[in-house]
Amino acid sequence: MRKNIVAGNWKMNKNLQEGVAFAKDLEAALAGKALKCDVIIGTPFIHLASVASSTKLGVAAQNCADKASGAYTGEVSADMVASTGAKYVILGHSERRTYYGETDAILKEKVLLALANGLSPIFCIGETKDEREKNVHFDVVKKQTVDALFELSAEDFSKIVIAYEPVWAIGTGLTATSAQAQEMHAYIRQTIADKYGKEVADNTSILYGGSANGGNAKELFACPDIDGGLIGGASLDVEKFIPVIEGF
Ligand code: PEP
Repeated sequence: MRKNIVAGNWKMNKNLQEGVAFAKDLEAALAGKALKCDVIIGTPFIHLASVASSTKLGVAAQNCADKASGAYTGEVSADMVASTGAKYVILGHSERRTYYGETDAILKEKVLLALANGLSPIFCIGETKDEREKNVHFDVVKKQTVDALFELSAEDFSKIVIAYEPVWAIGTGLTATSAQAQEMHAYIRQTIADKYGKEVADNTSILYGGSANGGNAKELFACPDIDGGLIGGASLDVEKFIPVIEGF
């Protein structure tokens, strides 16, 4: 059965001391609660080893290189990420696609390297406002999924977590309605079923991301095809993140 997951994405926020303190505070605040989801925090690279060794929380990198190793100054490989104890890597976030030119072809390489190093990719897909207004949002999301992921074996695909993040909802305060999100999540699950079969599709966790917070998480997570959230702004404060986790 698929997992419920709430994953934070700190983006480029918190220095090392702030990040480690946050992780410890979050773990302490969650202790003793009967959680109905896995909790992951997506930290900058430099925090990974410290957070992974000082808490039992799931830890994700926010990126990894599309090359295994070598003369790529400033890059961090999937092997390096895995060596910190992190188990996940966020790939294909719209900020990486937009600001750093990450194409589906580049992302395909990153996914392969992540999997080869034992990491589960949290793979982000989603349409822009313009694409939704032109009514091509289903096509866009399908193409992103097919081009980066659909050459994987069923076994490898089953290690992927999908995050549907409409670009127009990220950091804007504009959340997709639960009906809009459910409609797209059901479409993504059907797209996976068409390629890999119903069992793989039913076992794939599909998270929603885009201005999700303590006020809307419960309604979003109640939808049958929404298995949790990828949370940006509301993951930066323990007091704001806990109500999202408790949306389950
Ligand atoms: C994100 O960056 O993945 C995200 C969903 O951000 P926010 O929650 O701030 O919209």
